[in-house]
Amino acid sequence: MKTDYEVNIGLEIHAELKTKTKIFCSCKNSFGDKPNTNVCPVCIGLPGTLPVTNKQAVILAIRAGLALGSRISPHLLFDRKHYFYPDLPKAYQISQDKLPLCIGGGIKLDSGKFVRFNHIHLEEDAGKLIHDTFTDQTFIDYNRGGVPLIECVTEVDLSSAEETVEFLTKLRQTLIFADVANCKMEQAGMRCDVNLSVKKHGSSELGTKVEMKNLNSFKSVYGAIKYEMNRQIEELEKGGKIVQETRKWDETKEITTSMRKKEESKDYRYMPEPDFISINISPKDIDKIRNTLPMMPEERFKKYTEEYGLPEQDANLLISEKDYSDYFDNCLKLFFEPKTVANWIMTDLLKLLKSANFNTLEDIISEEYLCIILKLLADKKITRPVAKELFEKTIQTKNNPLEIAKTEKMLSTISSEQICKIVDQIIAEKPELKSEYKVQPDKITNFIVGGVMKQTQGKADATFIKDYVSKIMN
Ligand SMILES: [Zn+2]
Repeated sequence: MKTDYEVNIGLEIHAELKTKTKIFCSCKNSFGDKPNTNVCPVCIGLPGTLPVTNKQAVILAIRAGLALGSRISPHLLFDRKHYFYPDLPKAYQISQDKLPLCIGGGIKLDSGKFVRFNHIHLEEDAGKLIHDTFTDQTFIDYNRGGVPLIECVTEVDLSSAEETVEFLTKLRQTLIFADVANCKMEQAGMRCDVNLSVKKHGSSELGTKVEMKNLNSFKSVYGAIKYEMNRQIEELEKGGKIVQETRKWDETKEITTSMRKKEESKDYRYMPEPDFISINISPKDIDKIRNTLPMMPEERFKKYTEEYGLPEQDANLLISEKDYSDYFDNCLKLFFEPKTVANWIMTDLLKLLKSANFNTLEDIISEEYLCIILKLLADKKITRPVAKELFEKTIQTKNNPLEIAKTEKMLSTISSEQICKIVDQIIAEKPELKSEYKVQPDKITNFIVGGVMKQTQGKADATFIKDYVSKIMN
């Protein structure tokens, strides 16, 4: 990129809210069902029907606003946004124009830069058009029509593809941690429109913006921004002009192509939605919602590193997914050894999650069962290799690990005192071990561990023996 240009990016991000039902009717909000099965007269826009607002959708949108530091509007108002297209049977979308539900807020990037939201508003999703290129037909699935969405509109604060992807990653993480949305991009649960313009450094006016709609992966967002900024700079360098338009990102060719000249806001003929009366949102309601917000990733990171003393790398991995972080927190309620629990999650559990067919950590092994194993290990009732074996058997059988350990006689019957006694005995029989230890501590330690294992049929804990040897030898 030529260094005398700067890029200005603003985003509009749509995220589907995880309600059970749609925003204005009681149809199921569910992805992947048979087309046109979750529909009713309201969401296919039959005349004479009346929408009823889903309270849960409003609560989730407020949660999103609170988690992102927005102010919550004192009233809930809807507007009609008109456009004529088959995915919208009413020919208008119920959205918010005059008074969005959440105003302001933003996300801080790692560089310290604060990216502001203009607002976040609540609206209904449109149906899905499926183009069959083979038969040259278009099909419509209205299951998605009426699914609640929040649209998060940023200010034009971003200035590179890297910053944009970082911002989106943080936004996605916040919405997931706040239990607002699943943000499954592969299911179009989170889509991003990118507005991009370039201008010469020092110029006070923004350049002509181009919009790229419905990008549904971070990779597409990154590629589209890189391509589009270079295209615009080259165009300007040639003495050309940028046309205000909507462009489409072609994933396979990795280029953007012109779709249509950008419609202006007045084309939508916004008008107040007459089917609703305004609902008041009191500060008390907002506080009530605020009190149910779970801890956000940054707070969890702070707690893990400062309170629990975990290395930053561990804390970062744990907060990278809400599932990991919740699982970790649940385990600590049963067995408070943060580093031990973190290690088991990061090695044994994540390895299984990635390699086998598990959706969540809890699918692999419940927090309760994992902690039973960890407690047995901490109490020296089992050794490390036995703990691994018990872990595998618990996953296979889904039985309580304590029961497994009892029936399979995995529990050690040797007490710590007995182990110490055997070590003392070995040293008493060979007093030269003490002087040899000073020269070759590892060799002598291993010799003693071997001796104890032999006498106990391998049921003693090697780490415990090593610790004890080092204690009495030094
Ligand atoms: Zn419906």
